[in-house]
Amino acid sequence: MKISVQPKLIKWITFGEKIAAIAIFPFILLAHHKYQENKVLINHEKIHLRQQLELGILLFYIWYGLEYIIRLIQFKNKHIAYLNISFEREAFKNDENLEYLSKRKLFSFTNYLRVK
Ligand SMILES: [Zn+2]
Repeated sequence: MKISVQPKLIKWITFGEKIAAIAIFPFILLAHHKYQENKVLINHEKIHLRQQLELGILLFYIWYGLEYIIRLIQFKNKHIAYLNISFEREAFKNDENLEYLSKRKLFSFTNYLRVK
């Protein structure tokens, strides 16, 4: 894992969306230096790196994109759709627990597929 501050690259990847960070194995890209101190944000992105590894990286992005489209149809709202992608639900639920990745079971994101 390597952390790199890349505001322009992030904007390009996300089509200009204002986001703080993105995980692209094996990198965590940050939009600003200040985020390097944000342990919860870094942990969130580390959870995504683990998910990416489990799915052989490429399948993660395909699944992420497809699930986003499904959630968009379901919720008709970009932000709510994003928050309900299983990978995001797992990451947001556990990013404040800095010990989470040391205890996490394989393919745990599948526990978050079903939106309650
Ligand atoms: Zn996320």
